[in-house]
Amino acid sequence: MKVTVVGYWGGFPGKNEATSGYLFESGGYHLLVDCGSAVLSQLQNYIEPEKLDAVILSHDHHDHTADIGPLQFARLIATYLGKSTTQLPIYAHQNSGLLTELTYKQATVGHTYYPAKSLQIGPFQITFLLTKHPVECYAMRISDGKHTIVYTADSSYKEEFVPFTKGADLLLCECNFYGDQDGSSAGHMNSVNAATIAQKAGAGQLILTHLPHYGDINQLVTEAGEIFKGSIQLAQSGLTWGKE
Ligand SMILES: [Zn+2]
Ligand SMILES: [Zn+2]
Repeated sequence: MKVTVVGYWGGFPGKNEATSGYLFESGGYHLLVDCGSAVLSQLQNYIEPEKLDAVILSHDHHDHTADIGPLQFARLIATYLGKSTTQLPIYAHQNSGLLTELTYKQATVGHTYYPAKSLQIGPFQITFLLTKHPVECYAMRISDGKHTIVYTADSSYKEEFVPFTKGADLLLCECNFYGDQDGSSAGHMNSVNAATIAQKAGAGQLILTHLPHYGDINQLVTEAGEIFKGSIQLAQSGLTWGKE
C-alpha cells in the first residue's frame, strides 16, 4: 500500500498547496481520502483525475470537501473526451449533508457509509471511529490485507484512538496545535496528543498532518519525539509512504 500526501494544511491551503487529501494506492486501485481545497490541482501531480477509482470523505468541513465540485467537473469533462467511462463513487457518512450533491450526471455517484460496519472499497477494508469534532467526523483504519494505516481525520484527543490504532504500520495523525496549546475546544489535537496515541498503540510510524499556519512546524516533530520513539515525519506535498 502506498500513500501520497496531496494536501496537509489545516483550515485553508498554504500558497500553491492544498488542505486535506491523501491518495491511497494498492494493486492498481486508487482511493482518494478527503478532497479539500486545492486538492484537485495538487492531485494532478500524481494521477489524472479520471484514473481515480473512489473517494471517501471523513466529514463535511470545507478543508476536507471543497474540491468535490471541481472533481465532478473534471470527471464530466473526461467523460465528454472519452477518457472516463465510469461514474466515480464518492462515499460520505450516513448523516453527511453532502450526500445529495455527490451524484452528478455521468460523472460521480454518491454512496453512504455506515460507520458501525466495515466498508470494502476495492482492495481496502475500512473501519471507522467517531472522532471528537464540532461536526460528525470519522477516523479511518484502512487495510489492504498487508499493511494498515490509521487516518485520524479531525479530532481532539480521545483514548479510543489507542485500540483503534493498535498495530497499525502508520498513524497519519492530525496535529493542528503545538504541544503547549490545548486544541480540545477546537476539536483538534496537538503534537503531544498525536505522539501519545502512536506510542500507546505501538504504531510503526507517525506522520503529523493538518498542520498549523504559524510558528515553526518542525517544532511539532521535536515535541512528538519526546513521547514517540519511532519515526516521525511532517506531512508535505508529495510525501509518500510505502509501495503500491
Ligand atoms: Zn474539520
Ligand atoms: Zn480539517
